[in-house]
Amino acid sequence: MQNHNNNIISHRIHITGLVQGVGFRPFVYRMAVKHHIHGSVENRNDGVHILAEGTGHHLENFLQSLHLEAPPASEITGMEVHDAETQNLEGFHIVKSSNSSEEITRVSPDIATCEECIMDMKRQDHRINYPFINCTNCGPRFTIIQDLPYDRGMTTMAPFEMCPQCRAEYENIRDRRFHAQPVACKHCGPTYSMIDDGHKITNLYEILHVFAQKIREGSIVAIKGMGGFHLACDARKENAVRILRECKQRDGKPFAVMFRDLTALEEYVHVNEAERRIITSWRRPIVILKTKKELAPDVSVGFPTVGAMLPYMPMHHLIFESIHAPALVMTSGNISDEPIVIDNELARQHLKDITRNFITYNREIHNRTDDSVAMIVNGRERLLRRSRGYVPDPVETNLNVDGIMGAGAELVNCFCLGKGKQAILSQHIGDLKNIETLEFYEESVELFKRLFRTNLQIVACDLHPDYLSTKWAEQQGLEIVKVQHHHAHIASCMAEHGLDEKVIGIAMDGVGLGDDENIWGGEFFVCDYENYQRIYHLDYVPQPGGDAATRYPWQMAVSYLYHYFGNSFRDKNLPFLETIDDIKVNLVLRAIDKKLNCPLTSSTGRLFDAVSALTNTCTESTFHAEAPMRMESKIMEKVEESYEFDLPEDYISLKSIFKGITEDILSGTGKDVIAAKFHNTVINIILAASLKIRGEQRINKVVLSGGTFQNRYLLENAETKLKEEGFDVYTHERVPSNDGGIALGQLMIAAKRRTICA
Ligand code: ZN
Ligand code: ZN
Ligand code: FE
Repeated sequence: MQNHNNNIISHRIHITGLVQGVGFRPFVYRMAVKHHIHGSVENRNDGVHILAEGTGHHLENFLQSLHLEAPPASEITGMEVHDAETQNLEGFHIVKSSNSSEEITRVSPDIATCEECIMDMKRQDHRINYPFINCTNCGPRFTIIQDLPYDRGMTTMAPFEMCPQCRAEYENIRDRRFHAQPVACKHCGPTYSMIDDGHKITNLYEILHVFAQKIREGSIVAIKGMGGFHLACDARKENAVRILRECKQRDGKPFAVMFRDLTALEEYVHVNEAERRIITSWRRPIVILKTKKELAPDVSVGFPTVGAMLPYMPMHHLIFESIHAPALVMTSGNISDEPIVIDNELARQHLKDITRNFITYNREIHNRTDDSVAMIVNGRERLLRRSRGYVPDPVETNLNVDGIMGAGAELVNCFCLGKGKQAILSQHIGDLKNIETLEFYEESVELFKRLFRTNLQIVACDLHPDYLSTKWAEQQGLEIVKVQHHHAHIASCMAEHGLDEKVIGIAMDGVGLGDDENIWGGEFFVCDYENYQRIYHLDYVPQPGGDAATRYPWQMAVSYLYHYFGNSFRDKNLPFLETIDDIKVNLVLRAIDKKLNCPLTSSTGRLFDAVSALTNTCTESTFHAEAPMRMESKIMEKVEESYEFDLPEDYISLKSIFKGITEDILSGTGKDVIAAKFHNTVINIILAASLKIRGEQRINKVVLSGGTFQNRYLLENAETKLKEEGFDVYTHERVPSNDGGIALGQLMIAAKRRTICA
């Protein structure tokens, strides 16, 4: 009250960014009290609004503290301050949320359980071992939200009425759970239950006891997580992991592993400082780390890495307290290509052939999210799968992308919605060829449209007429913009880095339809959002059987050898041919001669397939991109040599590469050396092409995108060497370089073309 004098001034402050559901209002309140500010704070759809009165000096400190001391999971992207009429307000208040406009603000991704809540599980009477503990700094967010603004009634916590104690905390501005929407305790919140061979168990301690017993016995247990079910077993038990692998069918990919804590993690894998920072971050992705000590062989299926993560839900902490195992396989609860299961009843139906043991809880998962996957290359985080903990963070762009949707690709689908200048990428959806996945896609589009209040006008999609995302786009009755696959790849990386100019765009990728009807994937563009000019591409070779060739890398090896050396390659006693029936080889050669289902391809993925098969590393593939991944895993370090290649006018001949590799194989050179030389060659191609284009067109910015850049060796060295040559190099970090990033590029290209037409 003594503050009320003529020096009092008043500000209206509007803050945008990730400021809802992350403890922002209580934080504003604390800062207001600290700096003697009177007024109010309010959540609206378009962000946080503050009315602040105080002396000029106090207001200045207050504004500064909002930037400097903001809660860990929050992110301020805009702060507008306007003068207002002084009203001589009393105290500082938090005003109830109101739906004031059609603007939206950000929805927080899900946040891993914080340290303080882990401690509260040991000391707060009503939350001792309570597995749904959370606070304004942690807990579920995106997975439980149904609509905005982010209030309990708009989440799947709505059916749970707060008990008096929780309500008191929720309403106490000095409490860490002040306005924590999912606040709950053992008296009022959700609960876990277990179905153990048909018997229902509801007592938590009994559940944990039975779980521990099952894990010890080597059984598999399905357990409901944040964004869907996991299948868990002891990661050290060979039998358990093998059975899990057999049950999941066709799925030959490495399994993710959850470690008890950092100590357990560091016993089994190598972790550098950047990796430690990411794996312990509140986003808690799976991080690909180098193996130090072996787990069961079927976990990483021969790869020298482990997809590792740390506990991120209270229940994860409780289960690790109840078992002796330092590490659990925690793979998504689904069969092969189906989306991760989220519904309790469906889980029991879909997973019944894998396990009879289910741990579930009675709060609905509204938005399915898989665990995100990242790797650290050149000290920076690279997302390979962008889902829990990252979605729905927007990408801030320089263009008006409002009302535009990128429909994405097909195999690794994500879509993208434009709101104002923000591009909001969906969570990882998966392979649309699967009917359940397509339904998941359609549901998620509806949810995103509602959540972010988008009025779609344009759908941008791939050039490929058979992609289900393209077909879906065409059914929407909206304006369609078709975008070449690799142009979209480069555009997505440009968008991530805020570029809007001509760049050298190098797309190394698996499959994408080109504008000449061939299959592209080794493309050297000069491009901006509007147009692309294809300067070079990897030499075209026939891809026997079309898409089917991706399952049989040996067919690509045969195709390349035949293309460059004719029939003579069959006289050379190449070891990989000994494993393949002559009749099959004849069939492939005849198909090539007669041009039967043999589209031409310039795909880098197929080139890697061919070399992987030729060196007898992987002749048949059991999962997407297995052959290139196996080839990469063989690389001997510190090999500097490489193979020759030719850079004629418009394409890159690979003849001398295949000549060199064949000679190396026949002279007994190890495949680890060949793998290194081959990778070095691809890096040299990138370098040579970039230098030549820079020489001709005076462009110094190089953008690398496409699925092949998930290859750590390639990305690390290509980026480093290009920088050594003085290039400005742009590579993916928060947006995947695989087809999960395509939708963002499609959206940007459509947005740019709209601007130009207008
Ligand atoms: Zn917490
Ligand atoms: Zn309660
Ligand atoms: Fe692609």
